Amino acid sequence: MITIDGSKGEGGGQILRSSLALSAITGQPMRIKNVRGRRSKPGLLRQHLTALKATAEICGGYATGAELGSGEIGLKPGTIRGGTYEFSVGSAGSAMLVLQTVVPVLLFADNVSTVTVSGGTHNMASPPFDFFKECYEPALARMGYDIDAKINSWGFYPAGGGKVTVHVTPGSTRHTFHQTERGEETSRRLEAIVSNVKGKVAQRELETAGSALKIAEDDRRVTSRRSPGPGNVLIGRLDYDWGRSLFCHFGRRGVSAEEVAGNLVDNMQAYISSGAAIDEYLSDQLILPMALGSGGAFTTGQPSLHAQTHAEIIEHFTSRRVRFEKAGHEQYVCEV
Ligand code: ATP
Repeated sequence: MITIDGSKGEGGGQILRSSLALSAITGQPMRIKNVRGRRSKPGLLRQHLTALKATAEICGGYATGAELGSGEIGLKPGTIRGGTYEFSVGSAGSAMLVLQTVVPVLLFADNVSTVTVSGGTHNMASPPFDFFKECYEPALARMGYDIDAKINSWGFYPAGGGKVTVHVTPGSTRHTFHQTERGEETSRRLEAIVSNVKGKVAQRELETAGSALKIAEDDRRVTSRRSPGPGNVLIGRLDYDWGRSLFCHFGRRGVSAEEVAGNLVDNMQAYISSGAAIDEYLSDQLILPMALGSGGAFTTGQPSLHAQTHAEIIEHFTSRRVRFEKAGHEQYVCEV
């Protein structure tokens, strides 16, 4: 039995999600005490509870502490079965983070799967669907993992109501993920997505971010989406020879369009000047599939506490080591 202290390091939901996936895949029973121990509202929120129940169902396992607010949970995993699964967060909690838990598990199933999760598809502090599809999915493909995600409906916090389906094809060929060079920039684009938002918010975001980042008018676009509630996200895409980095900031009441754009610009400029290939968020999402596959190495910025805590969790469950070594002024090499 592996025991994890959920208040260690970053002390958030990633400890829970990755421990669940790793327990199911490696077949090792585990328990977590002090779940999300460093959060102002510790314990299981709906998104985490859905991930726990979903993982137990997929691996034919037995979960304990599966209640909202629970500070201690356990999983005794069984055999991972492919099939058709449908889960609902039951709130605007992130459907994408539930998928971040169960998709790696289904990649180790005996058969293909189709998994649908309802909830938020575009939430703050979570990967938006676009990031999952355009950054995470291609990176997994390079490691030999076959997934195909589709968005059926958009769900913004706080109304939720979105739905995403992922088709997962397990396989046994794994490739090393090696990306230490970024190469040349090939395109720079902005998209402001709005749902039920009045006024010129999207245009103001595009104007502010577009002029700061020197993005041509043709490479700025507004997209209107139908969803149950209001929502606004400004997305920046940077394409390099190596692949795509995608950044986003969410509009919300009381925050001006110019402030949203300014935050996005700061993030994108920090990435551009770092010279690293992999951005902060993708780097913490890639170490788990790399550790479960053929490992590899990539350049990234200074590792977040989130990524360091994630690396420790991986080391609890597998024989893989995850190392971040300083490689330049603002650059690190992550080696798995
Ligand atoms: P908690 O409330 O406990 O912090 P949580 O379950 O909401 O937790 P975190 O532990 O903070 O989640 O993990 C957030 C996840 O979302 C990480 O995998 C991180 O890489 C990802 N993420 C956050 N913001 C972005 C973003 N802008 N783009 C892509 N991915 C993101």
